[in-house]
Amino acid sequence: MPFQIYSEPARSILTRTSGFIAEAGFTHSLTPARNCTFGCSYCYVPTMGIYGGLRPHDVTHWGQSTTFKSNAARLLARALKPDQMIYCSPLVDPFQPAESDVGVMGGVLEAVALRPPDIFVLQTRSARVLEYLEALKAIASRTRLRVSFSITTDDDAIRRAYEPHCDPVERRFETVRELIANNIDTFATLAPLLPCDPDRLLDRAIDATRNPIICDPLHTRVGKPRGATTRPAAALISERLGLSHWHDPEFQRFTVERMSSRAAAANRRFATGPAAFRFLTER
Ligand code: SF4
Repeated sequence: MPFQIYSEPARSILTRTSGFIAEAGFTHSLTPARNCTFGCSYCYVPTMGIYGGLRPHDVTHWGQSTTFKSNAARLLARALKPDQMIYCSPLVDPFQPAESDVGVMGGVLEAVALRPPDIFVLQTRSARVLEYLEALKAIASRTRLRVSFSITTDDDAIRRAYEPHCDPVERRFETVRELIANNIDTFATLAPLLPCDPDRLLDRAIDATRNPIICDPLHTRVGKPRGATTRPAAALISERLGLSHWHDPEFQRFTVERMSSRAAAANRRFATGPAAFRFLTER
């Protein structure tokens, strides 16, 4: 089914942070669209409902449409301040597939380059970020620009099962390498941690990057009674594939402890949860 792509003006573009992102040290979040056409089976955003600024159709049809904020760049130009630490975005991938057709991020990045905040972080899993390399270089020359690049597994069959619209694993590692080759400060973000060979995934992340490693297992209602959590669609896929233990807090604890020790042995910092995302706001 083709994606439905809409555009409408928004009332505001920067939101004061709360919860997870605030704990990580960010002062503001920036969301250029509502709903994300990557449509990942595990996406936490639709489980937030109206608290994520979503409308009922966004929740029930997650990933099937997106509504870009047509005035994002203009609003942002007026809202940017030099002391802000901005996370873009907790609610969509800023370089989701439809972005190539609509191009909202071009204006957003131009505004950021003209009035740079203290820290500007792009959270993405999309090779489309490379289409904006010149704009990223312009921002990086003026402030702390960081790209937090999601690589969720080392197994492309798993990627196809849980996030079929996202770029393949190899393309994601290539993108990370290309960003770093262009002096863009880039983090490997192993989140959410999907079924994988954790040693192999971690070793590849350590090999591809120089920064601390960010990790976060799939959220579960057992471990997180309130707030955003994994969409039921991912749990159903895990059940079908006999991989439900990846949602089990005890198995997750064992896996991340093992990864943490392995990272320490490679002299690399490693964390999960807000502590991990705090790496992105370090000065
Ligand atoms: S890319 Fe991020 S925001 Fe978009 S559907 Fe996937 S998890 Fe959700």
